[in-house]
Amino acid sequence: MSPEAPTHGSESATALPLERRIERQCYALGFDLVGFVRLGPVESATHFEEWLSRGHAGEMRYMAHDPQLRGDTTRPLPGAVSAVVVGMHYGGREPSGPVARYARGDDYHDVLMERLRALHRWLVLEVRSEVPGRSYVDTAPILERDLARRAGLGWFGKNTNLINPALGSFFFIGSLFVALELQASAPFEADRCGSCTRCLDACPTDAFDDVRVLDARKCISYLTIEQRGVIPQALRSLMGELIYGCDICQEVCPWNERFSRALPEGSTFAARGTIGTDARTLAIELLSMDAAAYARAFRGSAMKRAKLRGLQRNAAVALGNRVDGAVEPALLAALSSDEALVRGHAAWALGRTGSASARAPLLARAEVESDPWALGELRSALLALGDPTSPGSSP
Ligand code: SF4
Ligand code: SF4
Repeated sequence: MSPEAPTHGSESATALPLERRIERQCYALGFDLVGFVRLGPVESATHFEEWLSRGHAGEMRYMAHDPQLRGDTTRPLPGAVSAVVVGMHYGGREPSGPVARYARGDDYHDVLMERLRALHRWLVLEVRSEVPGRSYVDTAPILERDLARRAGLGWFGKNTNLINPALGSFFFIGSLFVALELQASAPFEADRCGSCTRCLDACPTDAFDDVRVLDARKCISYLTIEQRGVIPQALRSLMGELIYGCDICQEVCPWNERFSRALPEGSTFAARGTIGTDARTLAIELLSMDAAAYARAFRGSAMKRAKLRGLQRNAAVALGNRVDGAVEPALLAALSSDEALVRGHAAWALGRTGSASARAPLLARAEVESDPWALGELRSALLALGDPTSPGSSP
């Protein structure tokens, strides 16, 4: 039902139902997709709990928190009955690179939150009454993709992303929960994937257990961002030169090939500094960073989620997957990192790409290495470079 509230819009605009006026305002604020849902029980919550129980979330233990909140969208904000669900694209036509498109520019949480709050302020003026509400952008245990599907924004692709038939899947989702009755949009019921399996076939780590079932523990996006510790050796060589996130199963999707958009000039999501360059340049820069340089480079960037040690670990893996002797000095320098996590992954990378001259510095490091895992990586690297005298390499 649409409330018959007076508005602060023009005469002709006030004749429109509130939902249409909200849509207009969303587009004016830069959102590309808008829909409305009635809050209540979440259909896909059971599927999600099952996914969690199979251990597919890996180290993302926060995902298991608050199942009650996740199972019923009336819970996160008592009194809220509806949500405005929005989508905002972040490109899709730019070249592939070592950083997933969504993370190349300003942090989307900040960008969407600011605009959703502006929408809320506008709504209060529009209905001339207090409207309790709260904005969410990955900031509460809400299954946002489920919400967006119910708001008509798209369907779940076989790669688990939400796909819109006019925009593809390179878009962010945000929502504004409000204590206001809004007419719900028609949910997106169709499955437009058909017989296509491109995304499943293209995944370099074979991370899909089944159609629409992703084992996050094998996904490069998870490994480079959410996984805090060691990246399993068997997966490292499959990660290519990806340093933060992975777009592969979206890039191959025909809906993105056809309907994704280019970022407009000056977009807040455009790649910063060396983030948009090649893996080698970015990886070498990351490995040379200290805490102050990292703080300067990644202020307001979603990439801070991986922390400096995580980014340097990823940079070492990416360089290990290059057959490029020019990266050796950066990896040798990383053997002196304060972080065992970085030293160990740099050793692995040297074992793959290093020359015979890397043996002496690897051996020197192994002689003083106090971390048992990093020492194991150093020994493996020495063996890979043909040095059977590596410390502790024989009983
Ligand atoms: Fe596979 Fe990359 Fe998609 Fe993860 S993001 S499922 S690694 S293609
Ligand atoms: Fe669906 Fe094909 Fe896109 Fe995968 S690549 S999400 S199967 S349309």
